[in-house]
Amino acid sequence: METAPEHVHLLIIGSGPAGYTAAIYAARADLRPVMYQGSQPGGQLMDTTEVDNFPGYPEGVKGPEMMGDLEAQARRFGTDIRYGWVTEVDFSGPVHKVWVGEGASRKEIHADAVVLATGASAKWLGLPNELRLRDIGGGVSACAVCDGFFYRGQNVVIVGGGDTACEEASYLAKLCTKVTQLVRGTSMRASKAMQHRVLNTPNIEVLFETETADILGDQGVEAVRVRNIATGAEHDIPCTGFFVAIGHTPNTAVFKDYIDLDETGYIRYAVPGTTRTNRPGIFVAGDAADKTYRQAITAAGTGCMAALDAERYLAEKV
Ligand code: NDP
Repeated sequence: METAPEHVHLLIIGSGPAGYTAAIYAARADLRPVMYQGSQPGGQLMDTTEVDNFPGYPEGVKGPEMMGDLEAQARRFGTDIRYGWVTEVDFSGPVHKVWVGEGASRKEIHADAVVLATGASAKWLGLPNELRLRDIGGGVSACAVCDGFFYRGQNVVIVGGGDTACEEASYLAKLCTKVTQLVRGTSMRASKAMQHRVLNTPNIEVLFETETADILGDQGVEAVRVRNIATGAEHDIPCTGFFVAIGHTPNTAVFKDYIDLDETGYIRYAVPGTTRTNRPGIFVAGDAADKTYRQAITAAGTGCMAALDAERYLAEKV
């Protein structure tokens, strides 16, 4: 049996850099934030090894360690941080209703304001060695801007034919000796300008109709085995880094009946330059609304904005 609804002043859904930064600002402003962390507390950075580009860590920091620091900072100011997964929402009325969990542990929360910071998840090919090497920090990454630096002067392979893959291949080409880009179709989905850029970069080789058969290497990537889809022929490409750029899925499906999403599922900002959504009192921060930058620091920045926007909204409501 469900317990009676709990009323909270500000609810933050999601615990990446956006959610924790919103929590730090909101708690310091006495908004008594309650955070539900989601299924992967800490978000995408928990899959990252070294983070070298977040300001304030001159020697770099491990992704999980940084998220631990952000969580500790949010707790220090009194954020009520809870493990739980939002399974249903009703944002139709002035009180925002959110259900957490399922079955006997299902709980109903009523919030005056909500910050949506559920982020996005990188898509992976799903090959066993890809996931194994990703999890041990063995040279498999879904973010060239985050990890490209570690492959300076080396050979890398990147998968995908969209704008992200082309942008990341161009970024890697500035650092790496050679970039091989694997495109499964006979053409790329990326904009013509992006295609032109990669096809005219001397150290990027694009292999069309090519899929990844396996990633070779025990503790780190040593080569990528590729297969020509038309002929079935396989060969190995020696490299030390394997980048997957086949798209992201924003974690927004649960909000779709109430919150404006674009055609790819990202939340639309209702008023540019703010974090407002189409529903009063509901704000969005981080990758759930960002398919362009997708950095920890940009997520943190919009998390700060969302807390300040929520503070103003709640002050005007009283
Ligand atoms: P997209 O969905 O546009 O592209 C995904 C790419 O990955 C496609 O080439 C797709 O191939 C390929 N792919 C998907 N699954 C697999 C698989 N299992 N194996 C091999 N290849 C696979 O994602 P993006 O992240 O590139 O872009 C998302 C959105 O963001 C787009 O709207 C894009 O335009 C936009 N964007 C814009 C930028 C800019 O303007 N600067 C920069 C980055 C993104 P296939 O085509 O065969 O399906």
